[in-house]
Amino acid sequence: MKVLVATEKPFAAAAVEGIKKEIEGAGNELVLLEKYTEKTQLLDAVKDVDAMIIRSDKVTAEVLDAAKNLKIVVRAGAGYDNIDLAAATAHNVVAENTPGQNSNAVAELVFGLLVFAVRNFYNGKSGSELKGKKLGILAFGNVGRNVARIAKGFGMEVSAYDAFCPADVIEAAGVHAVKSQDELFQTCDIVSLHIPATPETIKSIDYKTVNQLPKGGILINTARKEVINEEELVKLMAEREDLKFITDIKPDADAEFAKFEGRYFSTPKKMGAQTAEANINAGIAAAKQINAFFKDGCTKFQVNK
Ligand code: NAD
Repeated sequence: MKVLVATEKPFAAAAVEGIKKEIEGAGNELVLLEKYTEKTQLLDAVKDVDAMIIRSDKVTAEVLDAAKNLKIVVRAGAGYDNIDLAAATAHNVVAENTPGQNSNAVAELVFGLLVFAVRNFYNGKSGSELKGKKLGILAFGNVGRNVARIAKGFGMEVSAYDAFCPADVIEAAGVHAVKSQDELFQTCDIVSLHIPATPETIKSIDYKTVNQLPKGGILINTARKEVINEEELVKLMAEREDLKFITDIKPDADAEFAKFEGRYFSTPKKMGAQTAEANINAGIAAAKQINAFFKDGCTKFQVNK
C-alpha cells in the first residue's frame, strides 16, 4: 500500500524516520510531501495513495475527490476539525486521529503559561502562587486528565466538568466533578479549556460564561480558538480589569486583546503539541494505526463512524 505523509509543516526528522520504519517494516511504501505551498501540490500527491498521514493539513472534499484510491486518513494529533468528516464518510474513507499522544505536551504548557500569568508576565512585580488556587478543567479528556495530574503536584484544588465523561470517572481520578460548565466558572479561580471545537462548543465561551469567574479570574485556552466568542470576551475584558486571558492559539482578535496589557498573552504560534516527544509519538502512532488498518481492518481510532 502507498502511504503519503502530507505535511505543510513537517514532522521532526526523528518522527519521519520512525514513521518510515513502521510503514516500510510492514511492507508498505512511504512517500513524502513536505512544506508544500500550493493546494495543487497536495491534489497531485494524493492521486494514487491508499493512505495519508497529516498534521494540521486540510483534507477537504476537493482533496478527497482527487484521492481516488484513498482508504484511510490519519491526523497525527488530537483535534481533527481539519478533516471534512462528512466528505470522508461519503468517499468511504476512514478518518482517524491519534488521541493522547500529545496530551502531556499540551498539559505541561498550560502550567508554563499559568506560572507566567500569576507572576504578572515576569514584569518584576510581586505575583501569586498556584498552590491552593481552584483550577477548573473544562473537558476531562486526554489533555484535561494530564492537567489534573500536574495541578495536584502544584497543590491546587482541582474540579472538572465534561459533558460526556461520567462524574464517577472524574472523581476516581481524585478530581471534584461539578454538575455544569457554569458551576465550573462560578467556583474556580482559573478555568482551563480542553473541549474540542464542535457545533456545540464553537463560540460557547462567551461573555456570560466567563463573567461568572470570581475576581482575579484567569481563562486559559489551549483547545481551539473557535470555542471562544472573541468579540464578547474582548467586551468583557474591557469591562472587567481583573480578568486575565492566556492562550497558545492566537485569537483572530489578537490586536484587540493586546490592548489589555499585562492581562493577555498569546504564544506567537500554536505551541501546545510542539515538543519532540509529541511529534514523534503522534507520527509513529499514525503509522501504526495505518498498518493495523491494512493488516486487520482495525478502526479503533475512527472519528467518522
Ligand atoms: P479528547 O478527545 O481526549 O477529549 C475531549 C473531551 O471533551 C472528551 O472527554 C469529551 O467528552 C469532552 N467534550 C466534548 N464536547 C464537550 C462539551 N460540549 N462540553 C464538555 N466536554 C466536552 O481530546 P484531548 O486530547 O484532550 O484534546 C482536547 C482538545 O485540545 C482537542 O480537541 C484539540 O482541539 C485541542 N488540542 C490543542 C493542542 C494545542 O496544540 N494547543 C494540541 C492537542 C489538542
